[in-house]
Amino acid sequence: MTTYLLREGDNVVIASHNSNKICEIKALLEPYNISATSAHELGLAEPLETGKTFRENAAIKSRSAQIATGLPSLADDSGLEVNDLNGFPGVYSSDWGGPNRDFVSAMQRVKDELVMKGCWPSEGPVACFSTTLSFSWTDGSIKFFVGKVYGRLVWPPRGTSGFGYDPMFKPDGYNKTFAEMNREEKSGLNTRCNTALSHRARALELFINDCVSKVRTF
Ligand code: IMP
Repeated sequence: MTTYLLREGDNVVIASHNSNKICEIKALLEPYNISATSAHELGLAEPLETGKTFRENAAIKSRSAQIATGLPSLADDSGLEVNDLNGFPGVYSSDWGGPNRDFVSAMQRVKDELVMKGCWPSEGPVACFSTTLSFSWTDGSIKFFVGKVYGRLVWPPRGTSGFGYDPMFKPDGYNKTFAEMNREEKSGLNTRCNTALSHRARALELFINDCVSKVRTF
């Protein structure tokens, strides 16, 4: 029977080579004493992300790492969805950074395309960050968890923390962009409110509630 339940001391592979994502996910799993090792640390090859949706790409990554290691594996596929760009860059968020993953240029492209369409209201265009997590269990079965956070785009970009499109995204109800927040503020967890804020923290919270034994060490 599929249990999907990770317990203290269990090993999970984070199917990612993105150091920023890996750090955010490890920090969120740390209180549960789950031993998380990334595909990057294990020297696993990066599978081609040929999917057309976050869900398809997340599944490609978690399945590939699960098969390569025999361990349960957790993958994140995510991106920035801009309403007035019909949800783009979305699943192509990474590609908009080009081969060098230059997100200064990618943010400029988002801004230029919106301005060209006359879609830059004074309060900033509506956008959302979205994450789909896939969790591949050792018997080949798989579960998905989706987290989203809505906000507005700002220009010029602000802040130096985080990664990707963080400097141009201000979540609703906050004056800071994600890049002006430290990692704890961006996740929203372990802060005074202790409510998941980022798309990744929201998806991870669903994953933890469903698949992680609830013995926390703080
Ligand atoms: P993936 O590795 O194909 O899922 O690419 C996700 C891309 O979306 C990243 O390279 C970033 O550009 C963007 N992205 C995803 N999550 C975040 C985030 O939390 N902050 C900023 N950009 C993000």
